[in-house]
Amino acid sequence: MAARCRHCGAQSDRPDDQRTWETVCPTCGRLLWLGVGDVLACPVTAIHPFGVTVDIGDGVDGLIHVTELADRFVWDPEEIVRLGGTIRARVIVIDCVRRRISPTCRGGA
Ligand SMILES: [Zn+2]
Repeated sequence: MAARCRHCGAQSDRPDDQRTWETVCPTCGRLLWLGVGDVLACPVTAIHPFGVTVDIGDGVDGLIHVTELADRFVWDPEEIVRLGGTIRARVIVIDCVRRRISPTCRGGA
């Protein structure tokens, strides 16, 4: 379905129902389906000592750094999440060039 870009308002003829890195606004270059500040319930797909990988879209991952998992200090991500669970997080960085999305759970996301 064609849509208006949520960021710059430009009319887009691209479908915005695909949550991929290619689904970007031709005018402003930002993802049509995601914006900074969005709060998502993210399925946890991997747990690392430095954080957790979450599923954001269709083949698009986000990495929540261990320091962003809670407002308190976290030693081990598994204190907060488990594999296969979901975690509520707010998107703080979307880097379309390096294809990195950084969500946070801090601040009551
Ligand atoms: Zn745009």
